[in-house]
Amino acid sequence: MEEQTQAAGLPQAFTEVMSRILGDEYPAFSDSFTLPRRNSLRVNTLRIRPEALRELVPGLMEKVPWTEDGFYYDRSLFPASRHPFYQAGLYYLQEASAMAPAAILAPQPGERVLDLCAAPGGKATAIGAALRGEGLLIANEIRLPRAKALLRNLEVFGIRNALVTSAVPARLTEQLAGTMDAVLVDAPCSGEGMFRRDPEAVRDWSPEKVAECAAIQRDLVLRAADALRPGGRMVYSTCTFAPEENEAVIAHLLAERPELELLEVPQADLFAPGLSAGQLLSCGVARDRETEAALQTARERGFDLTRCVRLWPHRLSGEGHFAALLRRRGGRDVSVKKKDRRNSLREREYGHSHGLPSSGQPDPGRRGKAKGKQAPRGGRGAAAGEALSAAQRQMTAAFLEPFAGKDAAEAIARRMECRHGQLFLRPDGAPELRGGQVNVLRGGLLLGELKKDRFEPSQALAMALPAGPADSADAGAPVRIVPDAGDERVAAYLRGETVSFPEYAECPSGWCLLTVGGYALGWGKLVRGQLKNKYLPGWRQG
Ligand code: SAM
Repeated sequence: MEEQTQAAGLPQAFTEVMSRILGDEYPAFSDSFTLPRRNSLRVNTLRIRPEALRELVPGLMEKVPWTEDGFYYDRSLFPASRHPFYQAGLYYLQEASAMAPAAILAPQPGERVLDLCAAPGGKATAIGAALRGEGLLIANEIRLPRAKALLRNLEVFGIRNALVTSAVPARLTEQLAGTMDAVLVDAPCSGEGMFRRDPEAVRDWSPEKVAECAAIQRDLVLRAADALRPGGRMVYSTCTFAPEENEAVIAHLLAERPELELLEVPQADLFAPGLSAGQLLSCGVARDRETEAALQTARERGFDLTRCVRLWPHRLSGEGHFAALLRRRGGRDVSVKKKDRRNSLREREYGHSHGLPSSGQPDPGRRGKAKGKQAPRGGRGAAAGEALSAAQRQMTAAFLEPFAGKDAAEAIARRMECRHGQLFLRPDGAPELRGGQVNVLRGGLLLGELKKDRFEPSQALAMALPAGPADSADAGAPVRIVPDAGDERVAAYLRGETVSFPEYAECPSGWCLLTVGGYALGWGKLVRGQLKNKYLPGWRQG
């Protein structure tokens, strides 16, 4: 069933501006606040193909038109937020319009992408999936608690080539100046586009908040633009209707950074055009001096702000959003950029999708034996001081080879870094960010910890492993435990309980992966059919 939304009760200062902007369309806009809102999710294409998820679960309906991997769904048929496939990272629950900015940015494997305001990670997980493990995602969030939530969401998604940072944007972008292929600024905003979903957004709103947000946004876009390499592109987006936070911010950016040009959005025919400077000035909706000045400049200099796009809730199935696509002049054409595959792990080597060829066939008899034929060579971290140890070789032999395949394991081992007893897979080309200025919460995929001569695999490693064959339990250790999604023991595992699996009593003792439908949820230690719970305590349910 779709949910009833809150009716009207909207601030007068808001409705006045909207009616001036929309004119004859205003009643349809106003009526849209009483219409039911729709639920949508975005499939994690690192894990599963959209069509495969559709076959696996009921209730997925038509595609969200502006994405390849978003679907509307019927919550009464598929309670997506309570299904263990959610914890297995098969999809992200995301409002349909919020899928547009990452789709417009269209990151390509191998690119260096910065998501400047990334928490909780709706767009960052989309960018990470689009990169397919090649290139680099720097996901930044100014507020530390929100940055921690961002990290978790990226880890649930199995994204292995991300740096997660918590920094004031200017401190980060000055270190990245001129280096990024693509930047997303999904700016903090007054949230008018969320009024239909979220009564709190209405309570929090005021004309002063619009002006405060606009001031922050004017600064953010300049910082973001400075991180772009020549030829690099940028998407600016908000979930608000206020022109001060939308077209006027773009006008300000174009005036201050003449090296940027405003592009046509590829999906423009699905959305409404932005509002021109002339239109906004003539309906007198510029509530502050900076906005007025930016729009005057735009009119004088002929900036075509109609190239921006607006997602109006009365015109499409989604909430209110705004987006603009820009490009820094010069440089090479971003759309035909060749992938740098030198160090990349091909999808089938460290594969993702159920149904794709997997090299994750367990290698019988390997468990616990530290006989990795290929001793991992030191990455930068190792060279910096901590020699790669027997435990690291054990880790490669006991975890990476059986679960990811030999080739992928070797590729990972070559790039592994050891820092303070933790093993990381550091993304290609990750910059060394100066501490003090930028808090780096995660510098790549955390593989696990070295404890004396033992290796403890991380939750993030479990999530980044390819989906395994359902019958791997009897093929040797480590095993994948594969209960049905509806099995009560899955819920018990996610609560952190020790769980009994008598059907695996004959399997060798040791580390194993608990999966649903072959998709990893986390680690456990199996001893005679009892699974000691190793699900990350901070992720446990209820
Ligand atoms: N992109 C995110 C996603 O898709 O999940 C949503 C980002 S939300 C619209 C904006 C984010 O900007 C919030 O997480 C907020 O904490 C952060 N923020 C707030 N004030 C900020 C500032 N002055 N500079 C940068 N980011 C800020």
